[in-house]
Amino acid sequence: MTSLRELFLRHMAQTSLAPMGLEISHAKGVYQIGTDGKRYIDLISGISVSNLGHGHPAVVQAVTEQATRHMHLMVYGETVQAPQVRFAEAICSQLPKELDSVYFVSSGSEATDGAMKLAVRATGRTQFATLRNAYHGSTLGALGVMGHDMLRAPYAPLLPDTLRLDPNIAEQLDQVNRRTAAIFIEPIQGEAGARPLTAEYIRAVRRRCVSTGTLMVVDEIQSGFGRTGSMFAFLDAGVVPDIVLMAKGMGAGMPIGAFVARKELMSLLSHDPVLGHITTFGGHPMSCAAGLAGLQVVLSDGLMERAKALEVIFRQRLIHPRIKEIRGRGALLALELGDAALVQSTIAKCLEMGVITDWFLFCDTALRVAPPPIMTDAEAHAACDTLLSALEV
Ligand code: PMP
Repeated sequence: MTSLRELFLRHMAQTSLAPMGLEISHAKGVYQIGTDGKRYIDLISGISVSNLGHGHPAVVQAVTEQATRHMHLMVYGETVQAPQVRFAEAICSQLPKELDSVYFVSSGSEATDGAMKLAVRATGRTQFATLRNAYHGSTLGALGVMGHDMLRAPYAPLLPDTLRLDPNIAEQLDQVNRRTAAIFIEPIQGEAGARPLTAEYIRAVRRRCVSTGTLMVVDEIQSGFGRTGSMFAFLDAGVVPDIVLMAKGMGAGMPIGAFVARKELMSLLSHDPVLGHITTFGGHPMSCAAGLAGLQVVLSDGLMERAKALEVIFRQRLIHPRIKEIRGRGALLALELGDAALVQSTIAKCLEMGVITDWFLFCDTALRVAPPPIMTDAEAHAACDTLLSALEV
């Protein structure tokens, strides 16, 4: 009989020549369990998605209840759907009060594209500024604001006018000018290798945007919903952006994204032309129900504090001559090994020993440590034991 793995390789499109292809039967808490019964500690959360771990009872219950009530209806104003409205209200309650309007989409890339469209509508400008090694998504629009050429160059030409700046160098912000529609920043650059922007730099971006009439777009797709120890990482800098992007952890394991802005700004999408952005599945009610339940757990179970506590454990335990630096915040960390081959061999050894880790798209010399913040101290210590022994020769 043809094995599942053979069918996987035959019928499922692959994006790499060497897919890992672990056969997972189910997942619970911080564990993924293989069809052979092997247990893996999930140190990457499906790339910053599973902030509540896998199969959290509150999320399972919310999704199950919503499935029995209704699934997809319509999203262009025809129906008022409680899970969407309640989730939008809950998201706004965690943001500065000016940011009071949520446009739900289906993914992070779509949130980026929606924000780009909104910025063009708001400013009548077409230049976009972005930071070196930024990742904002993989659609043709989002590729335009990608801060690295590896994934972008083969799809050129993209947006005609983009500006690439070095992160944390405030002087370069002078290049943002009255032709710039928006600047996109990740408060902690995920795929660059968990590199935080300084609060001073984030504030300098805000000031430059005010003086040039440029929109400030903050991408919280990887850093949002408690992972870094704050609900959203930009909040620590005390600024109010024009647009906030979210996805990944937002749905607590279900697919959803959003861009959030002031109502007056967002209203541009409702006229001249109507339907300024269209998305059939945006804010699927089951995803919204999951996301709302997830957000409530982040707050009630103190997951932001948990994320901070995990950072302390990883920083204290992961001391090893091969670890040159630990970057990042909360449960969004990078172990810099300074050697791509060592990263690959460590990932393979960790997998053998039952820990799933990964590298970063634009930083292949660092290991990703981004577990679900629900991880217990004991589980974090077990993951550290494995990482340390995988680093031994
Ligand atoms: N922005 C950031 C910061 C991301 O990390 C990602 C995904 N890695 C995206 C945008 C794109 O999200 P998606 O894959 O859901 O399109």
